[in-house]
Amino acid sequence: MSVPASRDAAAKRAEELRREIAINDELYYVKDSPQIEDHEYDSLLRELEAIEAAFPDLVSPDSPTLRVRGAPRNEFSRVTHEEPMLSLDNALDMDDLDSFLDRAERSLSDDGGEARGVEWICEPKIDGLAVSLIYSDGVFQTASTRGDGTVGEDVTMNVRTIRSLPLRLARMKSGAVEVRGEVCMAREDFAELNRRREEDGESLFANPRNAAAGGLRQLDHRVTASRKLRIYLYHVRDARSLGIKSQSELLEWLEEEGLPTQGHARLCSDRGGIARYLEEWGRERFSNPINTDGVVLKLNDLASRERLGSTSKAPRWAIAFKFPPEEKRTRVLDIEISVGRTGALTPTATLEPVSLSGTTVRRASLHNQDDIDRKDIRIGDFVWVRKAGEIIPEVTRVDRLARVGSETPFVIPPVCPVCGTEAVRLPAEAAIRCPNRSCPAQLQEGILHFVSRNCMDINGIGEKLARQLTEKNLVRNVADLYDLKAEDLADLDRMGDRSAAKLIEAIAESRRRPLSALINALGIRNIGKKTASDVASHFRGIDSLIAASEDELASMDGVGPVIAASVRNFLSDENNVLVIERLRKAGVNMESADSGQAAKEAGTDSKALAGKRIVFTGELSSMPRAEAERMAESLGAKTSGSVSGKTDILVAGDNPGGKYLKAQSLGVEIWDEAAFLRCLAQENDSGGKAI
Ligand code: NAD
Repeated sequence: MSVPASRDAAAKRAEELRREIAINDELYYVKDSPQIEDHEYDSLLRELEAIEAAFPDLVSPDSPTLRVRGAPRNEFSRVTHEEPMLSLDNALDMDDLDSFLDRAERSLSDDGGEARGVEWICEPKIDGLAVSLIYSDGVFQTASTRGDGTVGEDVTMNVRTIRSLPLRLARMKSGAVEVRGEVCMAREDFAELNRRREEDGESLFANPRNAAAGGLRQLDHRVTASRKLRIYLYHVRDARSLGIKSQSELLEWLEEEGLPTQGHARLCSDRGGIARYLEEWGRERFSNPINTDGVVLKLNDLASRERLGSTSKAPRWAIAFKFPPEEKRTRVLDIEISVGRTGALTPTATLEPVSLSGTTVRRASLHNQDDIDRKDIRIGDFVWVRKAGEIIPEVTRVDRLARVGSETPFVIPPVCPVCGTEAVRLPAEAAIRCPNRSCPAQLQEGILHFVSRNCMDINGIGEKLARQLTEKNLVRNVADLYDLKAEDLADLDRMGDRSAAKLIEAIAESRRRPLSALINALGIRNIGKKTASDVASHFRGIDSLIAASEDELASMDGVGPVIAASVRNFLSDENNVLVIERLRKAGVNMESADSGQAAKEAGTDSKALAGKRIVFTGELSSMPRAEAERMAESLGAKTSGSVSGKTDILVAGDNPGGKYLKAQSLGVEIWDEAAFLRCLAQENDSGGKAI
């Protein structure tokens, strides 16, 4: 890392770096949406540290090298930490680590020489969000985020929703204790969350850490509850007052109190042991369900920690050894084009299989032509691949020195590879698109979207069936689905009479879906579940939507000029209007005129209670659970004590139990108590049975 020779040049560069770091801090800590990878950010910070070390008078008191970064969001109540929640200094290689150990051990020895018998404990560094929890008389009281280290956000209600966190300690029954740890999300849950967000047209999280931070800092704790967050504790403040002498005893204490810990910690009494742990965890971390971006090395003895103390930013008795992002070299065997629902032609590299961060990687998306050109990726090239956020494979750069001359540059073809229509690139877009709405590839993707859960929710149409329906010309646009007859399906693969009849019934039944589902199902670009629901509540009928001007659309809350233009574009296309007219003729619901419909869109529909299987969990504040069950039954619902695949609605009160998790995993509709009460009130208003 080069440091400018002159003070002026160094001052200018330091200023640039501080600005860049501040922008990325805001994106990462406040918006939960980083735009650069962590190691790129770390190298900006390191460069600034090097400049400040060479020119100490350039260190400003607010330099990011000196303080804990992050800021509490204004929407949350603030909590001042009794003792600051610090960050950790980083070691990027063994040299960094050795200097840290030398420094710490020297300070611990009486004569400033080598200290003997110093024990270090190694723990996986969980890539999540630090939180502090307070238990009083053994009962969970409050939770807060680290914030800027001194003041954090009150996230008590949200942390309560984390199922693995005990609300009572197992043994401690009196006095107060503060425990600290990390809230995070498993890789698998993160992938599922992003899959659903993509389906709903919502922005994607960059990595599990940001998804966890976004999930924890929600104003509506029900959203947090749906995010499957996990928590692991690793610190007890003022542990010595509880008779705890070391970190290993502290971890045992946490476990005995029933607080979740990460495990995998190991006591090391020499540097060889530390190096072995780093090497082993560097490999094993990929089979751990939680992303760990390094190892935290902590002095085991708590009394010795007090001798070393802390800086304003980090303790002097611990350090985070950060793993470099794993990159592997492999070869681009081919580049293929796939056509998505919106017609985007996406290039994907087929790679010589390579084992990377715990899985075998065979393909990597190349995103668009600009990306291919910028990196100059050619078929036959040797390239470096890594997993962004340890999950999504990407090509980072080409090994140009390995080129032999036979590599072939790649240009996305000017025609759609599926239907042969000339592809277009709109001026403001990176993607090249097939404009043909009847393109079989788009049509198949469009059918799958139309029938998906947040759209018309038609069970029984998967990828294979969608392909057959388009290949056999049975469906040329989504309105054709409603003309299908059981005998049309008889010749299709693996389609018996019974499944054909069931499918026709499911299609017919979907005609009653709310307007918001239909608007989402039409596949208008930039419209997902949430915007579709806003548009449906605003216009209340498809005709007013068709008649709306771009200005009227753009004036709606949550609909900017881009979405407005996209809706107008879609509805100005005669073919699309024709499809809507055919859907209308087929009897598909086009209105959300009555309050019952509005209630349904808001997630409750009193009439829907009749015949529904309902389960209650948790404590209801307005009535005992038995009474709620009786009321639901009086409206025609069937109640049950346990959640199964047949459950329609789970009503969750405070402190819901395992049923909540099960309902989530089965995709059962979950209502809070307020939604249930709203539903009872509607039933009363509409002259339903008295309750
Ligand atoms: P950090 O993540 O490097 O380390 C400190 C944190 O580690 C602690 O606060 C604690 O929350 C956590 N931790 C996890 N496991 C732990 C364990 N077992 N014991 C103790 N602590 C544990 O520091 P930070 O200040 O939280 O964040 C800085 C890092 O965040 C940067 O190094 C960078 O990688 C990332 N960052 C990235 C961007 C970006 O734009 N990509 C921007 C800002 C910060």
